[in-house]
Amino acid sequence: MTECIFCKIVAGLVPATVVWSNEKFIAFYDIHPKAKIHVLIIPKHHIESLNHITDADSDWLGDYFLAIQEVAKALNLSHYQLRFHNGAGSGQEVFHLHAHLLQH
Ligand code: AMP
Repeated sequence: MTECIFCKIVAGLVPATVVWSNEKFIAFYDIHPKAKIHVLIIPKHHIESLNHITDADSDWLGDYFLAIQEVAKALNLSHYQLRFHNGAGSGQEVFHLHAHLLQH
Protein backbone atom coordinates (compact mmCIF):
# COMPACT_ATOMS: atom_id res chain seq x y z
CA MET A 1 0.00 0.00 0.00
CA THR A 2 1.25 3.49 -0.82
CA GLU A 3 2.57 5.66 2.00
CA CYS A 4 1.48 8.82 0.19
CA ILE A 5 -1.09 10.64 2.32
CA PHE A 6 -2.69 12.31 -0.72
CA CYS A 7 -3.01 8.96 -2.54
CA LYS A 8 -4.77 7.72 0.57
CA ILE A 9 -7.18 10.67 0.38
CA VAL A 10 -7.83 9.84 -3.29
CA ALA A 11 -8.50 6.21 -2.31
CA GLY A 12 -10.87 7.29 0.48
CA LEU A 13 -8.61 5.76 3.14
CA VAL A 14 -7.94 9.12 4.83
CA PRO A 15 -10.80 11.59 5.34
CA ALA A 16 -10.74 15.01 3.73
CA THR A 17 -13.24 17.80 3.23
CA VAL A 18 -13.64 17.64 -0.52
CA VAL A 19 -14.54 20.86 -2.32
CA TRP A 20 -14.67 19.55 -5.88
CA SER A 21 -13.54 16.55 -7.91
CA ASN A 22 -13.76 14.96 -11.30
CA GLU A 23 -12.28 11.78 -12.74
CA LYS A 24 -8.71 13.18 -12.82
CA PHE A 25 -8.43 15.71 -9.99
CA ILE A 26 -9.64 16.33 -6.46
CA ALA A 27 -9.66 19.48 -4.30
CA PHE A 28 -9.94 19.48 -0.51
CA TYR A 29 -9.38 21.88 2.37
CA ASP A 30 -5.87 22.03 3.82
CA ILE A 31 -5.86 20.52 7.29
CA HIS A 32 -3.66 23.39 8.59
CA PRO A 33 -4.97 26.44 6.71
CA LYS A 34 -2.54 29.32 6.19
CA ALA A 35 -5.20 31.68 4.80
CA LYS A 36 -8.92 32.40 5.20
CA ILE A 37 -9.50 29.94 2.34
CA HIS A 38 -6.83 27.30 1.76
CA VAL A 39 -7.60 24.45 -0.62
CA LEU A 40 -5.26 21.90 -2.19
CA ILE A 41 -5.88 20.70 -5.74
CA ILE A 42 -4.14 17.49 -6.79
CA PRO A 43 -4.07 15.05 -9.69
CA LYS A 44 -5.55 11.73 -8.60
CA HIS A 45 -2.57 9.85 -10.00
CA HIS A 46 0.73 10.04 -8.12
CA ILE A 47 3.39 12.45 -9.35
CA GLU A 48 5.85 13.98 -6.90
CA SER A 49 6.08 17.59 -8.01
CA LEU A 50 6.30 19.93 -10.97
CA ASN A 51 9.99 18.96 -11.12
CA HIS A 52 8.87 15.48 -12.19
CA ILE A 53 6.66 16.35 -15.15
CA THR A 54 7.79 15.44 -18.66
CA ASP A 55 6.40 15.80 -22.19
CA ALA A 56 4.24 12.73 -21.45
CA ASP A 57 2.30 14.78 -18.89
CA SER A 58 1.34 17.58 -21.25
CA ASP A 59 -2.06 15.97 -22.01
CA TRP A 60 -3.43 16.37 -18.47
CA LEU A 61 -1.60 19.52 -17.33
CA GLY A 62 -3.94 21.83 -19.24
CA ASP A 63 -6.88 20.03 -17.67
CA TYR A 64 -5.23 20.56 -14.27
CA PHE A 65 -5.40 24.34 -14.64
CA LEU A 66 -8.98 24.13 -15.90
CA ALA A 67 -9.77 22.06 -12.79
CA ILE A 68 -8.19 24.76 -10.61
CA GLN A 69 -10.45 27.29 -12.33
CA GLU A 70 -13.47 25.06 -11.62
CA VAL A 71 -12.50 24.88 -7.95
CA ALA A 72 -12.29 28.68 -7.76
CA LYS A 73 -15.74 28.88 -9.39
CA ALA A 74 -17.16 26.30 -6.96
CA LEU A 75 -15.84 28.44 -4.09
CA ASN A 76 -17.17 31.60 -5.76
CA LEU A 77 -13.69 33.18 -5.78
CA SER A 78 -12.90 35.87 -8.32
CA HIS A 79 -9.37 36.39 -6.93
CA TYR A 80 -6.93 34.06 -5.23
CA GLN A 81 -3.29 33.04 -5.12
CA LEU A 82 -1.78 29.77 -6.31
CA ARG A 83 1.38 28.32 -4.78
CA PHE A 84 3.40 25.27 -5.74
CA HIS A 85 6.26 24.02 -3.58
CA ASN A 86 8.85 22.06 -5.55
CA GLY A 87 11.36 20.08 -3.55
CA ALA A 88 12.10 19.90 0.16
CA GLY A 89 14.20 23.09 0.00
CA SER A 90 11.11 25.05 -1.07
CA GLY A 91 9.04 23.82 1.87
CA GLN A 92 7.42 20.86 0.10
CA GLU A 93 6.37 18.35 2.77
CA VAL A 94 3.95 16.13 0.83
CA PHE A 95 5.54 14.66 -2.28
CA HIS A 96 2.40 14.41 -4.39
CA LEU A 97 1.91 17.38 -6.71
CA HIS A 98 -0.52 19.91 -5.25
CA ALA A 99 -1.52 23.49 -5.89
CA HIS A 100 -2.25 25.59 -2.83
CA LEU A 101 -5.21 27.86 -3.64
CA LEU A 102 -5.20 30.69 -1.12
CA GLN A 103 -7.38 33.67 -0.38
CA HIS A 104 -6.16 35.77 2.53
P1 AMP B 1 3.53 21.42 1.05
O1 AMP B 1 4.34 22.11 2.12
O2 AMP B 1 3.44 22.25 -0.19
O3 AMP B 1 4.01 20.02 0.79
O4 AMP B 1 2.06 21.37 1.62
C1 AMP B 1 1.44 20.21 2.11
C2 AMP B 1 0.16 20.67 2.71
O5 AMP B 1 -0.64 19.53 2.94
C3 AMP B 1 0.32 21.39 4.07
O6 AMP B 1 -0.23 22.70 3.95
C4 AMP B 1 -0.45 20.51 5.04
O7 AMP B 1 -1.16 21.25 6.01
C5 AMP B 1 -1.40 19.75 4.10
N1 AMP B 1 -1.84 18.45 4.56
C6 AMP B 1 -1.08 17.43 5.03
N2 AMP B 1 -1.84 16.36 5.34
C7 AMP B 1 -3.11 16.71 5.03
C8 AMP B 1 -4.37 16.03 5.12
N3 AMP B 1 -4.47 14.77 5.59
N4 AMP B 1 -5.48 16.69 4.73
C9 AMP B 1 -5.40 17.96 4.25
N5 AMP B 1 -4.24 18.65 4.14
C10 AMP B 1 -3.11 18.04 4.54
